[in-house]
Formats: sequence, structure tokens, C-alpha cells
Amino acid sequence: MRTNFHNSPIRSHQTLKYSATAFFIGLLAAVAPGRAATLRVTPASPQPGDVLAVTVYPAAGERITGVGMAAFDTAQVKFYTRRDGSARAFLGLPFDRPGGVYPLRARVRVARGNETREQIASATVRARTRDFPTQRISMRASTAGTMSKKDLLRREKALVQSAMKNSYPAPLWSGPWVVPTAGRATSAYGRRRYVNGKWWGQHNGADIKAPTGAPVRAANGGRIALSQYLPTLRGNCIVVDHGCNVFSIYMHLSQRAVSVGQSVARGQVIGRVGATGFVTGAHLHWEIRVGWEPVDPNKVLRSGPQF
Ligand SMILES: [Zn+2]
Repeated sequence: MRTNFHNSPIRSHQTLKYSATAFFIGLLAAVAPGRAATLRVTPASPQPGDVLAVTVYPAAGERITGVGMAAFDTAQVKFYTRRDGSARAFLGLPFDRPGGVYPLRARVRVARGNETREQIASATVRARTRDFPTQRISMRASTAGTMSKKDLLRREKALVQSAMKNSYPAPLWSGPWVVPTAGRATSAYGRRRYVNGKWWGQHNGADIKAPTGAPVRAANGGRIALSQYLPTLRGNCIVVDHGCNVFSIYMHLSQRAVSVGQSVARGQVIGRVGATGFVTGAHLHWEIRVGWEPVDPNKVLRSGPQF
């Protein structure tokens, strides 16, 4: 029965139609206390790399039928209906943002009886500053050459993104998240990386040094969205869709033990550590993403998103 409460995600960029009148009515509604949808964001003062929970609550007697929102680097924040009639989205606060005040604004379409109208709901994120250390990596020039294969990198990225377009519209995860392999943490999320002196970008995930063949486990329950050899950067790569636009990604594997569409449980072995793709040696690179935004896996391990 639970799935009855989670229909398709509300994607109202396409469905919300605007006219000046509708917009004006929306604004009037928004200033009438208790008569309009409200927006809440937690945590109240996040840091870069945190997962924000963004929730729209309808006014009494109204029902949310769509929410349109763009925030930070996410062009289309995806909302999912909850049992109590509110709609919740997860949103990654990018690692390259300074602390400061960031206004959020949602266009909310609501129904009251047979009437539908649009409202604007606003909230403010007061982000703290987070400084990430710099890491300088040396590798053979032939290996580092991958960095200039812009077209291949772009195509590989597009392939992964297309596998992550339609997340399951309900949480498939439950309980705490687990570290996917045993080993030493060698590079944390957000590190500012230079390879052979050249800027490469901030580290999208976390690295765990482990020998080739060590088991890699799903960080939580989900469905396999991608299991493929991607020769340019990621090597043998697995993407797990945890639902509600939350994903985990596992790279450079020597073996993949799952196929697309398969359900996996938290802790289930999905592959083996390896050194495929753009690497200097055997390790697991893993990521947690909300949509396409990489968030800090260590923070999720301490406290995962709550639907
Ligand atoms: Zn890495």
C-alpha cells in the first residue's frame, strides 16, 4: 500500500503554466497567513556537501499537484509526495559554494476542490563555510593524458547521467548507510585536486584503498541503474538508485556482480575492488549524489537523508 502514496515525481517545470494573473493570485495567496503553501529546509545552517531536505507543506484544505524549483546547480529539483500530503525533495549543497545566505523559491501548484492555483513559497538557506584541503597527485604523463580527452569524458558523463534520469519515486534505502569496502580512507570528498600540477577539480567522492578483489557492497538498498565498463574515467562502474533522486556510484572495479534493474540490499556484494579507468592503483572511488550533485558520503554515513 505504501507505494500508493508515492506516485510519479512532481515535475512541474513542464506542467505549471504561467499567466500574469495566475502569478498575481499566487502572490496574494502567499501573503495571506495560513492560506498558502510553505517551504521548509533542513538543516538550518548546512555546509557544502550536505544533503538538504526541502519540504513543501500545503495550506489546510489544499493539495499539492506540482512543484517547480531550481536551486544551486540543480536545474530541476525533484519533489516526491509524502503520506501527510507534503512534498519533499533532496538537494545537494555544492562543494564550491562559499558560506552565505541563499534564498530558495518554489512555485507550488495546489488544488482546492476543483480549483487549481499557483503559489510562491520561499525559504532561506544560511550556509556555513567549509574549507577543503588541496591534494597534489602525480602520475605518468600517458595516464594523465585522460584529462585532455574532453570529448570522451563528456560522452561518458552523458551516459551515466542518462542512467540517472528517472529515480524510483519512493525511498528504497532504510536505516544507516554502510561503508562499501574495508580499507583505509585515502582521499576524502571535496579535496581540491591538481594532477601533475594541473587543476583537475574537486573530488566528487571518497577513496578507499583496498586490494584488487576485495568485495564492494551496496551502501544501502536500491536498484541498479547502471553496470558497465566505462574505459575513459570510471572503469567498471555501478550506479545504485536509492529512490527519491539519491544515488551511490562505485568505480574502478575489477568485477561487477549485478545487472541493470536488479534490486540490491544494504551490504550486498555488488562487485570487487580494482584499478580500471583513470587510476594510479587499486582502490574504490565511491560517491553519493542527489540528482547529479555529488554530496559528502561521510556525512551520509553519519546521518542519511530522511524521507
Ligand atoms: Zn576518487
